[in-house]
Amino acid sequence: MDPQAIADDVVVTLNYTLRLADGTLVETSEGREPLEYLHGWGQIIPGLEAGLDGLTVGDSRQIIVPAAQAYGERRPDQIHTLARTQFPADAPLLPGMVFHGRDEAGGTFPVTVLEVHPDQVIVDFNHPLAGEDLYFDVTVVGLRQATPEELSHGHAHSGDEAD
Ligand code: ZN
Repeated sequence: MDPQAIADDVVVTLNYTLRLADGTLVETSEGREPLEYLHGWGQIIPGLEAGLDGLTVGDSRQIIVPAAQAYGERRPDQIHTLARTQFPADAPLLPGMVFHGRDEAGGTFPVTVLEVHPDQVIVDFNHPLAGEDLYFDVTVVGLRQATPEELSHGHAHSGDEAD
C-alpha cells in the first residue's frame, strides 16, 4: 500500500515552482517532468524537506525557505581575483557567466564571473541563490514506499533508470 503522508523513506513526486522574494522565476517543473526524490535523505534543501513533511497527495502549499536554510548567506570573502591564465585561453569570458569548479570531494560548485580584465578575472564562489529567501509553490502528486535498492543508494530511482 502506498504511504498516506510524506515521511522518511517515502519517494515523493512533486510539482514545484521556485521564485525569489521579488517574484523572479528561478525554476519550475511546469511543462517538464515532476520532481521525484527520496524524503529524509537530504536530496533536496533542508528547509523545503521540512516544509513538505506530513503533506499528502493533492496538497498544495507555499513553502518559504529562509536563505540560511537554503543556500546560505552571501559571503563577501567568497569573491576572489583569479589570473586570466587559470581559465582556458580560448574560453570566452563575460560577466554573468557561470562555470563549474570541482572541489576536493569530486563535487562541483558554481563560479560566477563578475568582472573580466586583461590579466585578471573577478569571480564569485557564492552559490547564485546564496542570500536569497526561496518561495516554493508545491503540489504533491504521488507517494510511494522506497525500494530497498533506493534506500541503499539514498536517492529515488525514476522509471527503469538504475543509477
Ligand atoms: Zn541509485
